[in-house]
Amino acid sequence: MGKIEGFIDEFLFMAKSAADVASKKTGEVVEIGKLRYQIKQAEWDLEKAYAKLGAIAYESRRGGDDLDDALALAVKEIDEIKQKSAEMEEALRAFKKVKKCPKCGQENESNALYCIRCGAPLEDEIPVESEEREQTED
Ligand SMILES: [Zn+2]
Repeated sequence: MGKIEGFIDEFLFMAKSAADVASKKTGEVVEIGKLRYQIKQAEWDLEKAYAKLGAIAYESRRGGDDLDDALALAVKEIDEIKQKSAEMEEALRAFKKVKKCPKCGQENESNALYCIRCGAPLEDEIPVESEEREQTED
């Protein structure tokens, strides 16, 4: 249990110190970069966690030992990383105010004109926030 927390703390700390250096720049760019980094780290952690789960499952079958506790722990670890990752993705999306492609659903940068996946033109008025423009034009 402590292990996964240590894991997360560790990479959050690493990301934090990396971001601290950059944070002189201020603002959203730093936040986005930090989040991306953390999400990447979480992906790696997830891979490691899956590998561990596999190893435990293997040992369990092989040796006939009852490793249910270890398995449960590994599953919990994976769930925690996934949840953390989902939270960070959510935060990242909020920061970027992404534009979702109406055609394929691909998320594009807020300033993108065309979808990076399918090339469909992206409308400019995806209402992310209730940011209504007044149109005084006729
Ligand atoms: Zn698209």
